[in-house]
Amino acid sequence: MQRSQQRADTPPGHVVVIGGGIAGLAAAHRLVATGVRVTLLEATDRLGGKLMTGEIAGVQVDLGAESMLARRPEAVALAEEVGLADRLQPPATATASLWTRDALRPMPKGHVMGVPGDPAVLGEVLSPEGLARIAEERDLTPTAVGDDVAVGAYVADRLGREVVDRLVEPLLGGVYAGDAYRISMRAAVPQLFDAVQEGGPLLDAVRRIQERAAARQQTGPVFQGIAGGIGTLPAAVGDAVRAGGGEILTATPVLGLTRTESGWAVRTDARTIAADGVVLAAPAWSAATLLAAESPAASAELSGVEYASMALVTLAFRRADIEAHTALRGRSGFLVPPVDGHTIKASTFSSNKWQWVADAAPDLFVLRTSVGRYGEEDHIHREDGELVAVSLRDLAAATGLTARPVDTEVTRWIGGLPQYPVGHLARVARIRDAVAGLPALRVCGAVYDGVGIPACVASAHRAADEILRDLAENPGGSTGMNPARIDGEIAGEIIATPTRVRGTGSEAGQ
Ligand SMILES: Cc1cc2nc3c(=O)[nH]c(=O)nc-3n(C[C@H](O)[C@H](O)[C@H](O)COP(=O)(O)OP(=O)(O)OC[C@H]3O[C@@H](n4cnc5c(N)ncnc54)[C@H](O)[C@@H]3O)c2cc1C
Repeated sequence: MQRSQQRADTPPGHVVVIGGGIAGLAAAHRLVATGVRVTLLEATDRLGGKLMTGEIAGVQVDLGAESMLARRPEAVALAEEVGLADRLQPPATATASLWTRDALRPMPKGHVMGVPGDPAVLGEVLSPEGLARIAEERDLTPTAVGDDVAVGAYVADRLGREVVDRLVEPLLGGVYAGDAYRISMRAAVPQLFDAVQEGGPLLDAVRRIQERAAARQQTGPVFQGIAGGIGTLPAAVGDAVRAGGGEILTATPVLGLTRTESGWAVRTDARTIAADGVVLAAPAWSAATLLAAESPAASAELSGVEYASMALVTLAFRRADIEAHTALRGRSGFLVPPVDGHTIKASTFSSNKWQWVADAAPDLFVLRTSVGRYGEEDHIHREDGELVAVSLRDLAAATGLTARPVDTEVTRWIGGLPQYPVGHLARVARIRDAVAGLPALRVCGAVYDGVGIPACVASAHRAADEILRDLAENPGGSTGMNPARIDGEIAGEIIATPTRVRGTGSEAGQ
């Protein structure tokens, strides 16, 4: 849709979205729905970022994110809006286990990110000493939380290290691939942060959270998958963006971002695109590079965001070969407390968890393991064969599985998950304050308000709505260009020759 063809009620302007992960796609989808002109630029040759499908033994499975929290509406709503409502599918079983103290044990119920409300349910998971330590909590003086506190430090202080090492680490670490002793309670478990600020024992705080959740009487599945894979969501959103008139360019890394008199000059290696607004939906390191010239403060904060890298090892077995292993039956998988020194951090039994995987390959049993977390990333640089071998070794120890896989696939996610250490929300506030000083530019994605898909979609919607408001308030697009920053006059829609922009020339992308 050309600017001259826009409807009279269409918001003025052209918005460039940088990054074609789920956040950038959700932002573009929100923007095209208003009729605004949108161009999305993705560095790699495919959409989706951390959402990706691939094949194992001829079956399509997720090789990245595989499920969406459904108790938050944003991700499921997006899937419904782009035509995937009839492919939404909750897990067929949610019976997860912990591989702890040398056995697969049922994951205790009634906890908030591994923090228990009732120690009675922990009998199998903790040692008698660990349980006795929990009972001491009522005699302890209060632990200060201040502006923020590390989840692990606080819980260890109140309930003992065993609760952290055997419950909080595998659960919280599973989401962030992080270290519970560094992760911010305020950012990662905000409901717990609010509840402990009310005072009293931690066990009581957890029970209050559970009572409030029960009072909300939420029904329906807690998680949803998509038949064919969560990795099919990006293409569906991309199709909807194109159908709404948006333009999507893959294999188009953005190399520079410069303010102009009328908005922004977005430089790729082939051309420079004039934009009235920009949604920056790239990971922190890339956003830091792109903002270096126009917002050194935001760039410096973004440069400080650390990431964890991990590998997923997907294995397909002949179903007949695993029938004898009862440990593989009925479970969705298991989590592994790092304290036990095993290499794998978790395993998902995809053929049990997702009916669509079982239906697609009834004669196969597909599972995956994850390896690597923040500060323990050496493993992921091992050869594929070694990662398969250590996965099989740990699986054998946990489940007794000795069968050989018929196919294997190793997927490395370098810089897969941003870390949310203590003070992360203050950092995010400083980033947002800094970019608020720039006209019609907003940031979104996993760096800011949560790493889960619904949180990424929510941050994208916020960014899109704020850009639309900026454009409506300032339809002329005057942005106070610093003329010293740009070598050529940027005018018109697209300038074919790359414009040299000082200070933003480094490579961006993943
Ligand atoms: C292995 C793994 C499993 C996960 N499992 C789950 C799960 O089951 N459920 C869940 O809710 N969450 C899960 N997550 C987290 C979730 O998938 C991510 O946090 C989320 O998808 C991030 O989306 P995003 O759009 O912010 O970033 P990304 O997916 O990283 O997308 C950013 C995009 O920007 C592009 N880009 C970067 N620089 C530039 C540039 N200069 N120009 C143009 N493009 C650029 C990148 O190529 C990329 O495509 C998982 C994450 C990982 C790594």
